[in-house]
Amino acid sequence: MAKLYFRYGAMNSGKSTALLQAAFNYEERGQHVLLAKPEIDTKGADQISSRLGVERTVDFLIGPEDDARELFAEHRRRVQREAEAALVPDVRTDVACLLVDEAQFLQPEQIDDLLRVAVSDGIPVLAYGIRTDFQTRAFPGSARLMELAHSLEELKTICRCGSKALFNARLVGGRFVFDGDQVAIDELSADRVTYESMCARCYLRESGERLR
Ligand SMILES: [Zn+2]
Repeated sequence: MAKLYFRYGAMNSGKSTALLQAAFNYEERGQHVLLAKPEIDTKGADQISSRLGVERTVDFLIGPEDDARELFAEHRRRVQREAEAALVPDVRTDVACLLVDEAQFLQPEQIDDLLRVAVSDGIPVLAYGIRTDFQTRAFPGSARLMELAHSLEELKTICRCGSKALFNARLVGGRFVFDGDQVAIDELSADRVTYESMCARCYLRESGERLR
């Protein structure tokens, strides 16, 4: 049975790099993959970009109202048609895997769709995302992935103190802020909003012991 995988971490834990590497590993073996991400993500619209400089356009964006399973099925049919038309021997004619970046921004119902893609449609789904927002609360998509995924894998990154980073502190104009919307409006325009991955000890020190 195909499975739903959730690979999660703090910001800057190399999620996009890991996703692009996974896609490469499949394609190196002559297999097809499909890449998707939620429409809400604003940095680079339809691109998955790793901090190492690799960039790739997704096959489809998932809007907040979309049926993720139906969208996947449409693109799967396209891959099947193209592969059959190409008539290249030894190239497989079906999708081997669906890779989803920024999965924290999907709706919980869309995570349900991803489980159906894996279990009912038989295609493995690898979802990558951030576990919690800058106020240490789970994103709705991540919470549902924690509930449903067959496999959870943490991608680790380091706090400035050297401990494992757990949280994502938000900075606006270089200063820490602990109030605001889950997705900062400023992210749409300027580079004023940045994030720093932090361990719990450093986060609590910066927030004055506040957690939300
Ligand atoms: Zn620290």
